[in-house]
Amino acid sequence: MTLLVLLCLLGHVCNLQVSAAPANKAFKHLQSALKFWHISDLHLDPTYHITEDHTKVCFSSKGVPALDPGVFGDFLCDSPYQLILSAFSYMKQADLQPEFIIWTGDSPPHVPKEELSTDVVIDVIANMTHTIHQFFPQLPVYPALGNHDYWPQDQLPTSENAIYDAVAKLWSPWLNPEAVATLQKGGFYSLVIKPGLRLVSLNTNLYYSPNQVTVNMTDPAGQLQWLQETLELSRQKLEKVYVIAHVPIGYLPYAINTTAIRESYNDQLVKIFRNYSDVVEGQFYGHTHRDSIMVLLDQQGKPVNSIFVTPAVTPIKSLLEPFSNNPGVRAYLYHPENYGLLDIWQFYLNLTEANLEQKSDWKLEYIMTEAFDIDDIQPHNLHELALRFQQPQSKDFDKYFNHFMGALPPPGSAVTDPPALPPPEHVTLSCPACLSPPTST
Ligand SMILES: [Zn+2]
Ligand SMILES: [Zn+2]
Repeated sequence: MTLLVLLCLLGHVCNLQVSAAPANKAFKHLQSALKFWHISDLHLDPTYHITEDHTKVCFSSKGVPALDPGVFGDFLCDSPYQLILSAFSYMKQADLQPEFIIWTGDSPPHVPKEELSTDVVIDVIANMTHTIHQFFPQLPVYPALGNHDYWPQDQLPTSENAIYDAVAKLWSPWLNPEAVATLQKGGFYSLVIKPGLRLVSLNTNLYYSPNQVTVNMTDPAGQLQWLQETLELSRQKLEKVYVIAHVPIGYLPYAINTTAIRESYNDQLVKIFRNYSDVVEGQFYGHTHRDSIMVLLDQQGKPVNSIFVTPAVTPIKSLLEPFSNNPGVRAYLYHPENYGLLDIWQFYLNLTEANLEQKSDWKLEYIMTEAFDIDDIQPHNLHELALRFQQPQSKDFDKYFNHFMGALPPPGSAVTDPPALPPPEHVTLSCPACLSPPTST
Protein backbone atom coordinates (compact mmCIF):
# COMPACT_ATOMS: atom_id res chain seq x y z
CA MET A 1 0.00 0.00 0.00
CA THR A 2 2.76 2.39 0.96
CA LEU A 3 4.39 1.65 -2.33
CA LEU A 4 1.27 2.44 -4.29
CA VAL A 5 0.75 5.68 -2.46
CA LEU A 6 4.31 6.72 -3.15
CA LEU A 7 3.94 5.84 -6.80
CA CYS A 8 0.92 8.09 -7.00
CA LEU A 9 2.79 10.88 -5.30
CA LEU A 10 5.60 10.51 -7.78
CA GLY A 11 3.07 10.84 -10.57
CA HIS A 12 4.13 10.35 -14.13
CA VAL A 13 7.78 9.91 -13.20
CA CYS A 14 7.26 6.56 -11.63
CA ASN A 15 4.50 5.53 -13.97
CA LEU A 16 6.83 5.87 -16.88
CA GLN A 17 10.07 4.75 -15.45
CA VAL A 18 9.57 2.69 -12.35
CA SER A 19 6.38 0.74 -12.62
CA ALA A 20 7.54 -0.55 -15.99
CA ALA A 21 10.40 -2.30 -14.24
CA PRO A 22 10.00 -5.83 -12.90
CA ALA A 23 9.80 -6.40 -9.16
CA ASN A 24 13.14 -5.11 -8.08
CA LYS A 25 15.39 -4.40 -5.16
CA ALA A 26 14.71 -0.67 -5.14
CA PHE A 27 11.11 -1.30 -4.23
CA LYS A 28 12.16 -3.41 -1.31
CA HIS A 29 14.25 -0.55 -0.02
CA LEU A 30 11.45 1.91 -0.64
CA GLN A 31 9.14 0.19 1.81
CA SER A 32 11.48 0.43 4.74
CA ALA A 33 13.86 3.26 3.89
CA LEU A 34 13.99 6.88 4.98
CA LYS A 35 15.09 9.49 2.46
CA PHE A 36 16.95 12.75 2.14
CA TRP A 37 17.59 15.09 -0.77
CA HIS A 38 21.00 16.23 -1.97
CA ILE A 39 21.29 19.48 -3.95
CA SER A 40 24.51 21.17 -5.03
CA ASP A 41 26.11 23.80 -7.23
CA LEU A 42 23.05 25.95 -7.84
CA HIS A 43 25.25 28.75 -9.28
CA LEU A 44 22.48 31.32 -9.74
CA ASP A 45 23.21 33.81 -12.52
CA PRO A 46 20.90 36.75 -11.86
CA THR A 47 21.89 38.34 -15.21
CA TYR A 48 20.47 35.49 -17.28
CA HIS A 49 17.85 36.70 -19.77
CA ILE A 50 16.75 35.85 -23.28
CA THR A 51 17.95 38.37 -25.83
CA GLU A 52 18.77 38.43 -29.56
CA ASP A 53 22.46 39.00 -28.92
CA HIS A 54 23.64 35.64 -27.56
CA THR A 55 26.83 37.15 -26.17
CA LYS A 56 24.64 39.06 -23.70
CA VAL A 57 22.41 36.27 -22.38
CA CYS A 58 24.43 35.77 -19.19
CA PHE A 59 27.56 37.19 -17.60
CA SER A 60 28.64 33.63 -16.81
CA SER A 61 29.30 32.85 -20.52
CA LYS A 62 31.96 35.58 -20.31
CA GLY A 63 31.12 37.09 -23.68
CA VAL A 64 30.94 33.75 -25.51
CA PRO A 65 27.64 33.43 -27.40
CA ALA A 66 25.16 31.20 -25.56
CA LEU A 67 24.48 27.99 -27.50
CA ASP A 68 20.73 27.67 -27.45
CA PRO A 69 19.34 29.87 -24.69
CA GLY A 70 15.88 29.17 -23.39
CA VAL A 71 13.80 29.94 -20.36
CA PHE A 72 15.51 27.21 -18.27
CA GLY A 73 19.06 28.06 -19.23
CA ASP A 74 21.91 27.34 -21.60
CA PHE A 75 24.89 25.00 -21.50
CA LEU A 76 27.29 27.96 -21.50
CA CYS A 77 25.48 29.80 -18.69
CA ASP A 78 24.86 29.33 -15.01
CA SER A 79 21.34 28.77 -13.70
CA PRO A 80 18.54 31.22 -14.36
CA TYR A 81 16.35 31.62 -11.29
CA GLN A 82 13.63 29.84 -13.26
CA LEU A 83 15.74 26.66 -13.45
CA ILE A 84 16.37 26.65 -9.70
CA LEU A 85 12.66 27.20 -9.02
CA SER A 86 11.79 24.31 -11.34
CA ALA A 87 14.14 21.99 -9.42
CA PHE A 88 12.65 22.92 -6.04
CA SER A 89 9.07 22.76 -7.35
CA TYR A 90 9.76 19.27 -8.64
CA MET A 91 11.26 18.16 -5.33
CA LYS A 92 8.26 19.53 -3.49
CA GLN A 93 5.76 17.98 -5.84
CA ALA A 94 7.52 14.59 -5.90
CA ASP A 95 6.94 14.52 -2.13
CA LEU A 96 9.29 11.70 -1.27
CA GLN A 97 8.68 12.52 2.40
CA PRO A 98 12.33 13.31 3.01
CA GLU A 99 13.75 13.70 6.48
CA PHE A 100 16.16 16.52 5.55
CA ILE A 101 18.13 18.12 2.71
CA ILE A 102 21.89 18.33 2.33
CA TRP A 103 23.13 21.27 0.25
CA THR A 104 26.79 21.17 -0.72
CA GLY A 105 27.46 24.73 -1.77
CA ASP A 106 28.38 27.01 -4.69
CA SER A 107 25.51 29.49 -5.02
CA PRO A 108 27.13 32.43 -6.90
CA PRO A 109 27.79 32.37 -10.65
CA HIS A 110 31.06 31.75 -12.52
CA VAL A 111 31.85 35.35 -13.41
CA PRO A 112 35.03 37.46 -13.28
CA LYS A 113 36.02 38.66 -9.83
CA GLU A 114 35.14 42.27 -10.66
CA GLU A 115 31.49 41.35 -11.22
CA LEU A 116 31.09 40.16 -7.63
CA SER A 117 31.88 41.41 -4.15
CA THR A 118 31.48 40.19 -0.59
CA ASP A 119 28.04 41.83 -0.48
CA VAL A 120 26.88 40.27 -3.76
CA VAL A 121 28.06 36.81 -2.68
CA ILE A 122 26.18 37.18 0.61
CA ASP A 123 23.08 38.39 -1.29
CA VAL A 124 23.14 35.36 -3.59
CA ILE A 125 23.59 32.90 -0.70
CA ALA A 126 20.80 34.68 1.20
CA ASN A 127 18.54 34.50 -1.84
CA MET A 128 19.13 30.76 -2.22
CA THR A 129 18.70 30.18 1.52
CA HIS A 130 15.37 32.02 1.55
CA THR A 131 14.19 30.26 -1.61
CA ILE A 132 14.93 26.83 -0.12
CA HIS A 133 13.26 27.85 3.13
CA GLN A 134 10.13 29.03 1.29
CA PHE A 135 9.81 25.74 -0.56
CA PHE A 136 10.59 23.53 2.41
CA PRO A 137 9.66 25.46 5.55
CA GLN A 138 9.38 22.32 7.68
CA LEU A 139 12.50 20.54 6.51
CA PRO A 140 15.91 20.80 8.17
CA VAL A 141 18.59 21.76 5.64
CA TYR A 142 22.29 21.10 6.23
CA PRO A 143 24.53 23.25 4.05
CA ALA A 144 28.26 23.18 3.35
CA LEU A 145 30.24 26.10 1.95
CA GLY A 146 31.56 25.93 -1.64
CA ASN A 147 34.63 27.53 -3.17
CA HIS A 148 32.34 30.05 -4.93
CA ASP A 149 30.62 30.97 -1.67
CA TYR A 150 33.33 33.51 -0.96
CA TRP A 151 34.82 36.62 -2.50
CA PRO A 152 37.27 36.43 -4.08
CA GLN A 153 36.32 32.88 -5.02
CA ASP A 154 38.39 29.98 -3.65
CA GLN A 155 40.11 32.12 -1.01
CA LEU A 156 38.16 30.94 2.01
CA PRO A 157 39.92 32.06 5.18
CA THR A 158 40.76 30.19 8.35
CA SER A 159 39.04 32.59 10.75
CA GLU A 160 35.90 34.65 11.22
CA ASN A 161 34.97 37.01 8.37
CA ALA A 162 31.88 38.74 6.91
CA ILE A 163 30.79 35.71 4.89
CA TYR A 164 31.14 33.11 7.67
CA ASP A 165 29.27 35.58 9.90
CA ALA A 166 26.51 35.95 7.32
CA VAL A 167 26.00 32.24 6.68
CA ALA A 168 26.11 31.46 10.40
CA LYS A 169 23.18 33.85 10.79
CA LEU A 170 21.32 32.72 7.66
CA TRP A 171 21.62 29.02 8.44
CA SER A 172 21.14 29.24 12.22
CA PRO A 173 17.46 28.15 12.07
CA TRP A 174 18.66 24.76 10.78
CA LEU A 175 21.54 24.34 13.24
CA ASN A 176 22.24 24.43 16.97
CA PRO A 177 24.30 27.11 18.79
CA GLU A 178 27.46 24.98 18.91
CA ALA A 179 27.30 24.33 15.15
CA VAL A 180 26.65 28.02 14.47
CA ALA A 181 29.72 28.93 16.55
CA THR A 182 32.18 26.71 14.61
CA LEU A 183 30.57 27.73 11.30
CA GLN A 184 31.20 31.37 12.15
CA LYS A 185 34.78 30.67 13.14
CA GLY A 186 35.95 28.28 10.43
CA GLY A 187 33.12 27.49 8.02
CA PHE A 188 32.49 23.96 9.37
CA TYR A 189 30.22 22.35 11.96
CA SER A 190 28.68 19.14 13.22
CA LEU A 191 25.41 18.27 14.88
CA VAL A 192 23.30 15.27 15.77
CA ILE A 193 20.45 15.18 13.26
CA LYS A 194 18.68 12.01 14.38
CA PRO A 195 19.19 9.84 17.44
CA GLY A 196 22.62 8.28 16.92
CA LEU A 197 23.28 10.04 13.61
CA ARG A 198 25.70 12.97 13.40
CA LEU A 199 26.21 15.17 10.37
CA VAL A 200 29.66 16.66 9.85
CA SER A 201 29.85 19.57 7.39
CA LEU A 202 33.46 20.21 6.39
CA ASN A 203 34.96 23.30 4.81
CA THR A 204 37.17 21.42 2.32
CA ASN A 205 37.65 24.70 0.42
CA LEU A 206 40.43 25.33 2.95
CA TYR A 207 42.31 22.47 1.24
CA TYR A 208 41.33 23.35 -2.34
CA SER A 209 44.40 23.75 -4.54
CA PRO A 210 43.69 27.36 -5.68
CA ASN A 211 43.23 28.59 -2.09
CA GLN A 212 46.29 30.80 -1.52
CA VAL A 213 45.35 31.64 2.07
CA THR A 214 46.17 28.16 3.36
CA VAL A 215 49.37 27.43 1.42
CA ASN A 216 51.91 25.74 3.76
CA MET A 217 49.48 25.50 6.67
CA THR A 218 49.50 22.11 8.35
CA ASP A 219 45.95 22.26 9.71
CA PRO A 220 43.96 25.28 8.42
CA ALA A 221 41.45 26.49 11.02
CA GLY A 222 42.30 23.39 13.10
CA GLN A 223 39.66 21.53 11.12
CA LEU A 224 41.59 18.25 10.80
CA GLN A 225 42.09 18.02 14.54
CA TRP A 226 38.47 18.98 15.10
CA LEU A 227 37.34 16.29 12.65
CA GLN A 228 39.43 13.67 14.35
CA GLU A 229 38.10 14.64 17.79
CA THR A 230 34.53 14.76 16.52
CA LEU A 231 34.77 11.28 14.99
CA GLU A 232 36.46 9.93 18.12
CA LEU A 233 33.64 11.26 20.26
CA SER A 234 31.09 9.79 17.84
CA ARG A 235 32.79 6.41 18.12
CA GLN A 236 32.61 6.56 21.90
CA LYS A 237 28.92 7.49 21.76
CA LEU A 238 28.24 4.77 19.17
CA GLU A 239 27.01 7.38 16.68
CA LYS A 240 27.08 7.01 12.90
CA VAL A 241 28.29 9.96 10.83
CA TYR A 242 27.39 11.41 7.43
CA VAL A 243 30.13 13.70 6.12
CA ILE A 244 29.15 16.46 3.70
CA ALA A 245 31.44 18.97 2.00
CA HIS A 246 31.84 20.79 -1.29
CA VAL A 247 35.23 19.88 -2.77
CA PRO A 248 35.58 16.09 -2.69
CA ILE A 249 38.47 14.02 -1.49
CA GLY A 250 39.99 11.63 -4.02
CA TYR A 251 40.85 12.03 -7.68
CA LEU A 252 39.02 14.30 -10.08
CA PRO A 253 36.92 12.30 -12.54
CA TYR A 254 38.24 14.15 -15.62
CA ALA A 255 41.97 14.19 -14.96
CA ILE A 256 44.74 11.69 -14.45
CA ASN A 257 45.88 11.19 -10.86
CA THR A 258 44.87 14.72 -9.87
CA THR A 259 43.26 15.31 -6.52
CA ALA A 260 40.79 18.18 -6.15
CA ILE A 261 42.36 19.23 -2.87
CA ARG A 262 46.09 19.47 -2.21
CA GLU A 263 47.60 16.03 -1.94
CA SER A 264 48.96 16.43 1.57
CA TYR A 265 45.49 17.33 2.86
CA ASN A 266 43.95 14.55 0.81
CA ASP A 267 46.35 12.08 2.42
CA GLN A 268 45.48 13.32 5.89
CA LEU A 269 41.75 13.12 5.26
CA VAL A 270 42.06 9.64 3.77
CA LYS A 271 43.98 8.57 6.86
CA ILE A 272 41.29 9.94 9.17
CA PHE A 273 38.46 8.38 7.17
CA ARG A 274 40.25 5.03 7.09
CA ASN A 275 40.68 5.17 10.87
CA TYR A 276 37.02 5.98 11.40
CA SER A 277 35.46 3.96 8.59
CA ASP A 278 33.38 2.09 11.19
CA VAL A 279 31.85 5.42 12.24
CA VAL A 280 31.41 7.18 8.87
CA GLU A 281 28.43 5.76 6.99
CA GLY A 282 28.69 7.94 3.90
CA GLN A 283 30.40 10.94 2.33
CA PHE A 284 28.57 13.39 0.09
CA TYR A 285 30.19 16.01 -2.09
CA GLY A 286 29.55 18.40 -5.01
CA HIS A 287 31.90 20.73 -6.91
CA THR A 288 32.84 18.65 -9.99
CA HIS A 289 29.24 19.03 -11.26
CA ARG A 290 29.36 15.42 -12.43
CA ASP A 291 27.62 12.36 -11.06
CA SER A 292 30.36 10.07 -9.74
CA ILE A 293 31.05 7.44 -7.13
CA MET A 294 34.26 6.65 -5.28
CA VAL A 295 35.12 3.87 -2.87
CA LEU A 296 37.61 4.29 -0.04
CA LEU A 297 39.78 1.22 0.46
CA ASP A 298 41.63 0.46 3.67
CA GLN A 299 45.33 -0.33 3.64
CA GLN A 300 44.60 -3.97 2.89
CA GLY A 301 42.49 -3.00 -0.12
CA LYS A 302 39.17 -3.73 1.58
CA PRO A 303 36.33 -1.32 0.60
CA VAL A 304 35.38 0.62 3.74
CA ASN A 305 33.52 3.80 2.71
CA SER A 306 31.09 4.88 -0.01
CA ILE A 307 31.72 8.35 -1.44
CA PHE A 308 29.23 10.16 -3.66
CA VAL A 309 29.58 13.25 -5.83
CA THR A 310 26.23 14.64 -6.92
CA PRO A 311 25.66 16.37 -10.26
CA ALA A 312 25.05 20.13 -10.32
CA VAL A 313 21.83 22.02 -10.81
CA THR A 314 23.69 24.46 -13.09
CA PRO A 315 24.28 23.09 -16.59
CA ILE A 316 27.28 25.35 -17.27
CA LYS A 317 30.41 24.25 -19.09
CA SER A 318 33.15 26.34 -20.58
CA LEU A 319 33.56 26.50 -24.34
CA LEU A 320 36.61 24.22 -24.23
CA GLU A 321 34.99 21.45 -22.24
CA PRO A 322 33.64 18.69 -24.46
CA PHE A 323 30.75 17.85 -22.14
CA SER A 324 28.36 19.36 -19.69
CA ASN A 325 25.64 17.92 -17.49
CA ASN A 326 21.91 18.20 -17.48
CA PRO A 327 20.63 19.79 -14.26
CA GLY A 328 20.24 17.15 -11.54
CA VAL A 329 19.00 16.60 -7.98
CA ARG A 330 18.98 13.34 -6.07
CA ALA A 331 17.49 11.49 -3.14
CA TYR A 332 19.28 8.92 -0.98
CA LEU A 333 17.47 6.05 0.68
CA TYR A 334 18.87 4.95 4.02
CA HIS A 335 18.13 2.46 6.75
CA PRO A 336 15.99 3.95 9.53
CA GLU A 337 17.91 2.26 12.34
CA ASN A 338 21.54 1.75 11.41
CA TYR A 339 21.60 4.65 8.89
CA GLY A 340 23.33 2.47 6.28
CA LEU A 341 22.93 3.81 2.74
CA LEU A 342 20.62 1.77 0.56
CA ASP A 343 20.06 3.51 -2.75
CA ILE A 344 20.18 6.64 -4.90
CA TRP A 345 17.28 8.02 -6.88
CA GLN A 346 18.75 10.43 -9.41
CA PHE A 347 16.52 12.99 -11.12
CA TYR A 348 17.33 15.26 -14.07
CA LEU A 349 15.93 17.88 -16.38
CA ASN A 350 16.49 17.47 -20.12
CA LEU A 351 17.45 21.10 -20.62
CA THR A 352 17.19 21.13 -24.42
CA GLU A 353 13.72 19.62 -24.30
CA ALA A 354 12.57 21.89 -21.46
CA ASN A 355 13.62 24.99 -23.40
CA LEU A 356 11.95 23.76 -26.57
CA GLU A 357 8.68 23.03 -24.81
CA GLN A 358 8.96 25.96 -22.40
CA LYS A 359 8.03 23.52 -19.69
CA SER A 360 10.23 21.81 -17.10
CA ASP A 361 9.66 18.09 -17.03
CA TRP A 362 12.01 16.72 -14.37
CA LYS A 363 12.29 12.96 -14.54
CA LEU A 364 13.71 10.04 -12.68
CA GLU A 365 17.00 9.30 -14.43
CA TYR A 366 17.97 6.08 -12.69
CA ILE A 367 17.77 4.10 -9.49
CA MET A 368 21.29 3.03 -8.59
CA THR A 369 20.58 -0.53 -7.42
CA GLU A 370 18.36 -1.18 -10.40
CA ALA A 371 20.59 0.42 -13.05
CA PHE A 372 23.65 -1.53 -11.94
CA ASP A 373 22.01 -4.60 -10.41
CA ILE A 374 23.48 -4.25 -6.95
CA ASP A 375 21.83 -4.92 -3.58
CA ASP A 376 22.59 -1.57 -2.02
CA ILE A 377 25.22 1.17 -2.17
CA GLN A 378 27.41 -0.15 0.64
CA PRO A 379 31.18 -0.01 -0.03
CA HIS A 380 31.62 -3.68 -1.02
CA ASN A 381 28.87 -3.43 -3.64
CA LEU A 382 30.24 -0.19 -5.10
CA HIS A 383 33.70 -1.72 -5.18
CA GLU A 384 32.41 -4.76 -7.03
CA LEU A 385 30.74 -2.35 -9.49
CA ALA A 386 33.96 -0.38 -9.95
CA LEU A 387 35.74 -3.64 -10.78
CA ARG A 388 33.05 -4.33 -13.40
CA PHE A 389 33.77 -0.91 -14.93
CA GLN A 390 37.35 -2.02 -15.52
CA GLN A 391 36.32 -4.89 -17.77
CA PRO A 392 37.01 -4.23 -21.46
CA GLN A 393 33.93 -2.93 -23.34
CA SER A 394 32.07 -2.64 -20.04
CA LYS A 395 28.42 -1.85 -20.73
CA ASP A 396 28.12 -0.85 -17.07
CA PHE A 397 30.79 1.78 -17.56
CA ASP A 398 28.99 3.14 -20.64
CA LYS A 399 25.90 3.50 -18.50
CA TYR A 400 27.86 5.12 -15.69
CA PHE A 401 29.43 7.56 -18.15
CA ASN A 402 26.04 8.51 -19.53
CA HIS A 403 24.78 9.23 -16.01
CA PHE A 404 28.03 11.07 -15.28
CA MET A 405 26.55 13.89 -17.41
CA GLY A 406 22.95 13.56 -16.31
CA ALA A 407 21.69 11.52 -19.27
CA LEU A 408 22.82 14.32 -21.50
CA PRO A 409 22.62 14.12 -25.23
CA PRO A 410 25.69 16.15 -26.22
CA PRO A 411 25.16 19.85 -25.57
CA GLY A 412 23.91 21.98 -28.42
CA SER A 413 22.37 18.98 -30.16
CA ALA A 414 19.23 20.99 -30.88
CA VAL A 415 21.11 23.44 -33.06
CA THR A 416 24.18 21.59 -34.28
CA ASP A 417 25.17 18.05 -35.08
CA PRO A 418 26.17 16.47 -31.79
CA PRO A 419 29.77 15.39 -31.57
CA ALA A 420 30.00 11.61 -31.22
CA LEU A 421 30.71 10.50 -27.68
CA PRO A 422 34.28 9.27 -27.52
CA PRO A 423 34.79 5.91 -25.85
CA PRO A 424 35.08 6.22 -22.08
CA GLU A 425 38.76 5.30 -22.11
CA HIS A 426 39.44 8.36 -24.19
CA VAL A 427 37.65 10.62 -21.80
CA THR A 428 39.09 9.39 -18.57
CA LEU A 429 42.64 8.91 -19.73
CA SER A 430 43.49 11.32 -22.47
CA CYS A 431 40.94 14.04 -22.91
CA PRO A 432 43.31 17.03 -23.36
CA ALA A 433 40.71 19.67 -22.56
CA CYS A 434 39.86 17.80 -19.38
CA LEU A 435 43.31 17.74 -17.87
CA SER A 436 43.01 21.22 -16.49
CA PRO A 437 39.29 21.92 -16.34
CA PRO A 438 38.88 25.40 -17.80
CA THR A 439 35.86 26.16 -15.68
CA SER A 440 36.48 26.53 -11.98
CA THR A 441 33.70 24.46 -10.53
ZN1 LIG B 1 32.95 24.33 -6.59
ZN1 LIG C 1 30.28 24.49 -8.68
